[in-house]
Amino acid sequence: MAAQRWVYAFSEGDGKDKKLLGGKGANLCEMTQIGLNVPPGFVITTQACLDYLAHAERQLPEGLPDEIRTHIRRLEQQTGKVFGGADNPLLVSVRSGSAMSMPGMMDTILNLGLNEDTLSGLIHQTGNERFGWDAYRRFIQLFGHVALGIADTHFDEHFDAIKRQAGVKADIGLDAEHLEEICRLFLEVVEEQTGRPFPRDPYQQLELAVKAVFNSWTGKRAVDYRRQFNITPEMANGTAVNVVTMVFGNMGNDCATGVGFTRDPGTGENVMFGEYLVNAQGEDVVAGIRTPKPVSAMADEMPEMYRQLVELRNKLESHYREVQDFEYTIERGTLYCLQTRNGKMNAAARVRTSVEMTNEGLLSREEALLRVEPDMLEQLLHPRLDPEHKSTPVATGLPASPGAAAGKAVFDADRAELLGRAGQKVILVREETKPEDIHGFFASEGILTSRGGKTSHAAVVARGMGKPCVAGAEGIVVNVKARMAAVGETTFQEGDTLTIDGTTGNVYIGEIATVDPEFSDNLKTLLAWSDAVARLKVMANADTPAAAQKAVDYGAQGIGLCRTERMFNAVDRLPVVVEMILADTLEERRDTLDKLLPMQRGDFKEIFRVMSPRPVTVRLLDPPMHEFLPTEAQLLEELEHLQKLHVTMQGVGELVGSLRLLRPGARHTDMPAPFDVLNAELVAEAIAKKRQMLNKVRVLYEVNPMLGHRGVRLGITYPEIYRMQIQAVLEAAAELQREGIDVIPEIMVPQVISPEELKIVKQYTEEVQQQVERHYDVSLNYRFGTMMETVRSTLRAERIAGYADFFSFGTNDLTQAAFSFSREDAENKFLPQYIARGILRDNPFEALDYNGVLKLMEIAVKDGRKVRPDLKVGICGEHGGHPASIRHCHHIDLSYVSCSAPRVPVARLAAAQARLTEEEYQ
Ligand code: ADP
Ligand code: MG
Ligand code: MG
Repeated sequence: MAAQRWVYAFSEGDGKDKKLLGGKGANLCEMTQIGLNVPPGFVITTQACLDYLAHAERQLPEGLPDEIRTHIRRLEQQTGKVFGGADNPLLVSVRSGSAMSMPGMMDTILNLGLNEDTLSGLIHQTGNERFGWDAYRRFIQLFGHVALGIADTHFDEHFDAIKRQAGVKADIGLDAEHLEEICRLFLEVVEEQTGRPFPRDPYQQLELAVKAVFNSWTGKRAVDYRRQFNITPEMANGTAVNVVTMVFGNMGNDCATGVGFTRDPGTGENVMFGEYLVNAQGEDVVAGIRTPKPVSAMADEMPEMYRQLVELRNKLESHYREVQDFEYTIERGTLYCLQTRNGKMNAAARVRTSVEMTNEGLLSREEALLRVEPDMLEQLLHPRLDPEHKSTPVATGLPASPGAAAGKAVFDADRAELLGRAGQKVILVREETKPEDIHGFFASEGILTSRGGKTSHAAVVARGMGKPCVAGAEGIVVNVKARMAAVGETTFQEGDTLTIDGTTGNVYIGEIATVDPEFSDNLKTLLAWSDAVARLKVMANADTPAAAQKAVDYGAQGIGLCRTERMFNAVDRLPVVVEMILADTLEERRDTLDKLLPMQRGDFKEIFRVMSPRPVTVRLLDPPMHEFLPTEAQLLEELEHLQKLHVTMQGVGELVGSLRLLRPGARHTDMPAPFDVLNAELVAEAIAKKRQMLNKVRVLYEVNPMLGHRGVRLGITYPEIYRMQIQAVLEAAAELQREGIDVIPEIMVPQVISPEELKIVKQYTEEVQQQVERHYDVSLNYRFGTMMETVRSTLRAERIAGYADFFSFGTNDLTQAAFSFSREDAENKFLPQYIARGILRDNPFEALDYNGVLKLMEIAVKDGRKVRPDLKVGICGEHGGHPASIRHCHHIDLSYVSCSAPRVPVARLAAAQARLTEEEYQ
C-alpha cells in the first residue's frame, strides 16, 4: 500500500476536493491551475489534521515533516529564494482553512521564516530597513500569539508605549528605529512568557505554526462557531494548512493589499466592490488600522494595477460562474491573488446577480434558479428594520408574522380603530386577541401579544393579513385598565411609540426606521423562469379582496383557500352572526341567514372579480360556533357590571323624577343628555341579551371544541348555514358571469371523514345550483371538493373521490390528527425537547412530516386518482409555503400548493427547484 500523502502543491491539488484541502486550499490550487497569479505554495490536508488531533500526544503524522521539507525545497526552486537563507530569504504564511468558511475562527501567521539572519537579508535585498523591521515585529507578535499562546496585550503595551514616545497615532508613522526597538522588546516578551528564546530555526517555526493551526480546530472559538452554525463533521472535519510564499503589500507606495467582491454584495450591481490600503499587509485592511479606500479610487491612483484587478475579477467570475469574495496583494507592480470564495449576499443581490449573470451568458436559467434560497425571498416582501439600527430589544416574543412596524402602543381594538382612522400609526398591544378585536387589526400596523403561540388568534389573523406580529412576548405585562405595560424595569404608556419585528420576535421601545419592500423586475423575471420550469402550481390563501389582490401581484395562479369565517368577523357582520347563533328556531335562523347572504355574496363577488379568470376555493364554515361568542367568564363579568348599572339607572330614573319636582318648568331637552340613551329599560334589555348569550354559550360548551361540533358536522346539522354559503358563492359567480367575467368557484367542505357527508353536501349544492341557474339563466362552471384533514378521510379517499372534483390537504389539522398533538401545547411544552433529543427531526407543524403525514397524503392521492385520474390535489396548510415540504408535494405529484400571499414567491421558486432536483430526491 502506498504511504498516505499529506501534502499537495498548489499546482497538484484537486480544486474540487474541499473536504480534503479545505475551501481556501482547494481554491488556491484551482486558481494556480487556471493560470491566475497565486504565490507558490502547498496545502497540508485536513486528514493530516485529524491524524494529528487523534494522536494521544498530538504528534504530526509520520512522514509529514519530510513531505513539508520536500515541498519547501520545491518552493525554493520555484522562487529562487532559500528558507532560512541570509541572502535571499524565503518567507511564507501559514494559513488555516476548512471545508466550510469560518471567518476569523482560526489563525494565520505571516512572514514566517524570519530571524536575525534572514531579516538582514531581507533588508539588504529590498534596501528598505523600515519594511524589514515592520515585517519582523508582525511575525514575532503573530507567532507569539498563535503558536506560543502569548496574550496580545503583552505586545500591545510595548507597541503603544513606543507610539506614545514617538508621538504618532498610526503604525505608519513609526520609523525603522522605532520598529527595531519594538522587535527587541517583543523578543523579550517571548522569553519572559515562555522561558525560552524565540525559535530561530525556520523549520522549527514552521512545525510549531502547523501544529498551532491544527490545534485551533479544537479551540473554543472554533468549536462554539461550529455549534452555533450547525457545522457537522460531515460538512467540515479538521482544518487544512496552507503554506504560501509571502508577497508584500507593505514594501512602499507601489504596493497595496485589498479585499473585494466581483459584484456589489449589497445590491448585486455588476460593479467591482471592495477596499484597499496602500503600503500595508493583509490583515491591516480588516483590522481597521487605517481607513481603506474604495476600490474605485485605484483607477486613478494605480491605473495599471486597476486594469489588472479588473482582469482578475473577470477571470474569477468566468471560471467560478459565481460572485467571488477575494483577497489580493500588489507587490511592486505585480498583482497576486491570495484567496477566493463564493460571495455571501443578501436576497436582493442574489436575485439580481442570478438574472444578470444569466443574461450575460455566465449561468443557465436552471443554475440561476438553484442559486437562490427560496426562503430568502421573503426578506424582499416585508418591510424590514433598517439594517443599520443600533437599538436593543426590551422584550422578545415569537416571530409570529414577518415584517417590521412602528407605531403608537394602543391597548384595545376600539381605540386602535379610532386612532387608525384618524391616520395615526398604531401597534395593537394585547395580552391575547379574540375575533371581536378584528377591526383593531385592520387599523394597526402590527400586533403584539404577551400570550399565545404561533397559531394563536393574533398570529393566524396577522399572517392572513400580512401584518407583522410578535406573539407571546411573555416579558410584557399588559395592564389595560391602567393603559400601560411593564417590561422588567421599564414601562410604556398608551401612546408611546413601539417598534416590533415579526421576523425576529424583537420588541423595541421607540421608533426604528423601516425599509420598504420592493418587488423588483429582476425578481419578476426570476419567478417567471420558475413558473416555466415548475410542475406544481402555486395558489394563495386569501380571505379578503385586498389579500386576493396581493396574491395576484405576487403571482398566485388562484386562491387555494378562502376562509369564510374571516368575513363573519368583520365589524358589521359579527352582530348578525351572533344573532344567527342565538336563534332558537329555524325561522329565526333563516331570517338572519337572509341578512348574511347578500354580505357574503358581495364578498365573493369582489374576490372572484380580482381573481378572474383564476380559480378560487371557498371553504364552507369551519370553526365551532362558540368562537363567535364571548367566553362564559367574560359574559358573567359583563352581566355583573350591567346589573350594577341597572340599579344605578333606577336611581337615575328617580333623579329625573326628582328634577321635575325641583325644576317644574324645565323641558325634556333641557335634561342632561345621557339620560336620553341610558335608561333603565335599555340596560334591562342589554341584560336580557347577555343572559341569552350566556345560556347559548353554556349550551354550546364543548369539552374539546376543535374535535367537536364544527366543519361539515355543522353543515349536516344546520344545513341552512351551508346552503346559504353555497348560494352566496354560486350567485356571486352567476352575477359576474352575466357581466362577462370568467370565474371558477370551487366549493370546499372541511373536516370530512366519510363519503356520506360529502354526498349530502353535494346534494345541497346541486339543488342550489339548479335554483341559481334558473334564476340567473346561466350555466355555472364550478367545482366541488373536500379538504383532507382527518386521518380517516385519507384512508377513504377512493370513495370520497366519487363525490369530489378536488382534494386539498389541510396539513395543519392533518398533522395534529396524525400525531394526536395539539399544536399549541406541543410547541409550548415538549416539542423543543423532542427535537433537541432527536426524537423528531423537525417541528412537524413547520416541515411536512415525511414518515407519517406524507404517507397518508400519498395514499389519498393514489386512491383518489384510481377513481378520478384527473383529480386535482393540493395542499393549503402552512406547509404549502415551506420549501422542503413543497419538494415532498412535488414528489407525490400534487397539482398545486397554496400558501399566504407573501410566501407565494418563495413557493414559486421552491416548486421550480423541486422540479430541477427531482432526480436527487430520496
Ligand atoms: P482569513 O481566513 O482570516 O482571511 P488568511 O489566511 O486569508 O486569513 O490571511 C489573513 C490575511 O493575510 C489576509 O489578508 C491575506 O490576504 C494575508 N495573507 C495571507 N497569506 C499571505 C501571503 N502569502 N502573502 C501576503 N499576504 C498574505
Ligand atoms: Mg482570508
Ligand atoms: Mg382545519
